Amino acid sequence: MNWVASLVEPAYLFAAGLFVLSLHWLSDPKLARRGVRAGVLAMLVAVLATWARPEVSHHTDIARHLWVIIPILLAIWPGVWLANIPLTAVPQRTALSHAFGGLAAGLVGTAKYFYWFQDHPDQLTPFRMTAIVLEIILGYLTFTGSIIAAGKLQEVKWIPQRPWVYKGQNFVNLVAFGAAVVLGCLIIFMPDRSWSPWAYGAIVFLALNFGWMLVMPIGGADMPTVIAILNAYAGLAAVAMGFVLDNKLLITAGALDGSSGLILSIIMCKAMNRSFSNVLFGAFGQVQAKAAGGEQKAYKPDTPENAAAMMEQASLVVVVPGYGMAVAQAQHKVRELYDQLKKRGVTVKFAIHPVAGRMPGHMNVLLAESEIPYTDLIEMDDINPDMPQCDVCLVLGANDVVNPAARFDKTSPIFGMPIIDADRAKTIFAVKRSKNPGFAGIDNELYFLDKTFMLFGDAKAVVGELVKNLSSGSGMH
Ligand code: NDP
Repeated sequence: MNWVASLVEPAYLFAAGLFVLSLHWLSDPKLARRGVRAGVLAMLVAVLATWARPEVSHHTDIARHLWVIIPILLAIWPGVWLANIPLTAVPQRTALSHAFGGLAAGLVGTAKYFYWFQDHPDQLTPFRMTAIVLEIILGYLTFTGSIIAAGKLQEVKWIPQRPWVYKGQNFVNLVAFGAAVVLGCLIIFMPDRSWSPWAYGAIVFLALNFGWMLVMPIGGADMPTVIAILNAYAGLAAVAMGFVLDNKLLITAGALDGSSGLILSIIMCKAMNRSFSNVLFGAFGQVQAKAAGGEQKAYKPDTPENAAAMMEQASLVVVVPGYGMAVAQAQHKVRELYDQLKKRGVTVKFAIHPVAGRMPGHMNVLLAESEIPYTDLIEMDDINPDMPQCDVCLVLGANDVVNPAARFDKTSPIFGMPIIDADRAKTIFAVKRSKNPGFAGIDNELYFLDKTFMLFGDAKAVVGELVKNLSSGSGMH
């Protein structure tokens, strides 16, 4: 049907526009849901339009169409399962998506190469071969790299969380990558020799190994940044795939995916004051040898009852949420606390650090889930000037993002990272379960200040106690 074929290009244009709008809407919490729907619709249009392409739809052999339908039906189950994981597992879920994206790009490139090699060697032009080589190197390295990243984040037993390092590691990795590139250059210009498929296989082998070897030396704390970088690789692999398949929408969507991954990783590196090379080669998160005989500092435990009384008297309360709030799923209790304090005329603000939690926007998503108004979620740079006027700062399962060592301790692994100035508040209550450090594995001076009091316990339980004390009106100091 000619009219169906004539709709393919306009449909691709429509889908490309929707992808751009989807990313635009996703950057605003109020419009994020619309952004997700637009992305889903764009993908659906893209799949249907590709199916309508004459070279696909003109096949009368039903078995060919079943090759498309059956995998789609089979993929629904793992897709639904992956969509229903808890929010704290989103970084590893995202890593798995990139792994599958990378593998798909690698397999498509491989299928195309061997199809052309056997039946149409004249199609293996240097341009196409360059695209195929880029596609398979990026695709396969993203596959194994993302599997390791997902495993580290999920804390599976057989993958060490800490950086796995040995002498000469960067050299070995560089040789593996360099060898893949050299072989790639050879088959770009000699794709149809009898030895070319062997060289091709060797490139796949080297790329698969380079992927996991690249990610193993990186510590668990840096995995979300690594995932953003792998996102960029998967996007670039899709761009290369678009050139191989001569599909403009794939080129556009891959470029959007790749550039957004790159921008995200730059934002994350900036928020942690780290460079790309430090994330990729810095082995951040290795256990630091502690100086023996260091003095043990004392925490000052307090009760939710006292904390509730202080909050009730305050005019400004700033809550600094962190990873612990996400683990405890305390956001709904936090909403109750917010309502109780607002009822008493207390101004309540939430200080949002760009890398609080384990993924960008982690805190925004959780607090939006409990319907706390966006206008009370204040970015770090905007809230910090107000911190000296803050009567009570409630540090809720946050640690590294409020650690003053980032300002002055040049030996600290987080030195230079911008922080929320919780230590400048008049009184601080910090909620955590134990004396364990945060993700960077270091102590936090904030907890030992004269004006800091600890509320030890699970964040959901402690905030629940605060709410109980406020609602019963028994909060008295
Ligand atoms: P941290 O990981 O530094 O600290 C979390 C704190 O929460 C811990 O001190 C822990 O103490 C406490 N906690 C854990 N579970 C609970 C619970 N159920 N109830 C109460 N407290 C709990 O988190 P931050 O959010 O402060 O910092 C994020 C870290 O992750 C930074 O180092 C950042 O660089 C890193 N990171 C973040 C990325 C992002 O995109 N968001 C990306 C890359 C890295 P205890 O065990 O004693 O309870």
